[in-house]
Amino acid sequence: MVYCLGHAYGWEMMEQTDFPQQCVIEVTAACDQACIHCGRTYMERPKKTMSREMFHRVVAEIGRENPDCEVWPTFMGEALLLGKRLFPLIAYARQVGCRKITLNSNGNRLTEENIEGLLECGLDRFIISCDGHSAETYERIRIGGKFERLYQGIHRLLERMRTARLQRPLIELQFSIFNENEHEVEDFKKYWLDQGVVVKSRPKVYWSGLVPGGGHRISTSATRTPCLWAFDTAAIHCNGNVVMCAIDCDGKYVAGNLSQQSLKQVWNGPLRWLRHLHSQRRFRELPEICRRCTDWQVKKAHAFFPDQTVRQQYEEYVRRGRLFYETHTLAPSDQTTNFTVDGGVR
Ligand code: SF4
Repeated sequence: MVYCLGHAYGWEMMEQTDFPQQCVIEVTAACDQACIHCGRTYMERPKKTMSREMFHRVVAEIGRENPDCEVWPTFMGEALLLGKRLFPLIAYARQVGCRKITLNSNGNRLTEENIEGLLECGLDRFIISCDGHSAETYERIRIGGKFERLYQGIHRLLERMRTARLQRPLIELQFSIFNENEHEVEDFKKYWLDQGVVVKSRPKVYWSGLVPGGGHRISTSATRTPCLWAFDTAAIHCNGNVVMCAIDCDGKYVAGNLSQQSLKQVWNGPLRWLRHLHSQRRFRELPEICRRCTDWQVKKAHAFFPDQTVRQQYEEYVRRGRLFYETHTLAPSDQTTNFTVDGGVR
């Protein structure tokens, strides 16, 4: 079924798909940081780890139904806390047919052992959330993180990849911009582009009001547009709950549970109805988490590339299997920047 969505954001048509285009799977909600801008810091639900059986069931279904659905084995939490238990999970996802696997991390555990695991498990893209370019700024924002350990670990990873001439995973360094760190974004960008990796900057997410602030954004029905997160992303908590979207860290809206249902059933059940409400602009009928949300305005990020080869590799990867990618790509402002839409919100 095709819905006409008007001309907001420059897109004209959007389809209801029978299966999500990306899926965030919470392998663990545990984390070693309490970042001031992260919904996990404020969420109330138990911070547990997903069973291996549940993870296997989800990725096996993705491999069968839509191998190009991008698998993100992180939702809230830090997957590298699982250590050696993480890599067989990713390798299993690859084995059952998943062709796009992206891991995001706070990057504070890039030990030799974890680097080997990351390079061997079949990962396509590795996003490291940095959000600062000095110890002072970084450690004030990412409470519990250590700037020196982060940068040493990233350099260790890049050196290991250079030595082995590895093209995968694509390495992307992320910087969420807000008042406390915006003065460092340009230096951050220059420093890491010089190291040959992709840099992504994105506006701050307020986790539908869980993190204070965000009142400056528009939120009225008159100016609102349908939410792309609702249309392309399934979000699964560690207990198997399928929730509203990648912003719903506390599970304010639970559409189903994957111990009793398949992801496809949930996606085409309650979530299809909610996408329909979005597309009809019936925002007042949505669950409260969507009604009060302003984050739908920032499901987008700027990516910067060190050269055209890296840019081509990156775009080939993120566009593959994506229905909505082209319609959200804005004209590049120069040879190395572009507008992309994907997850990696923390
Ligand atoms: S409007 Fe907000 S809460 Fe609702 S699906 Fe979009 S991002 Fe999620």
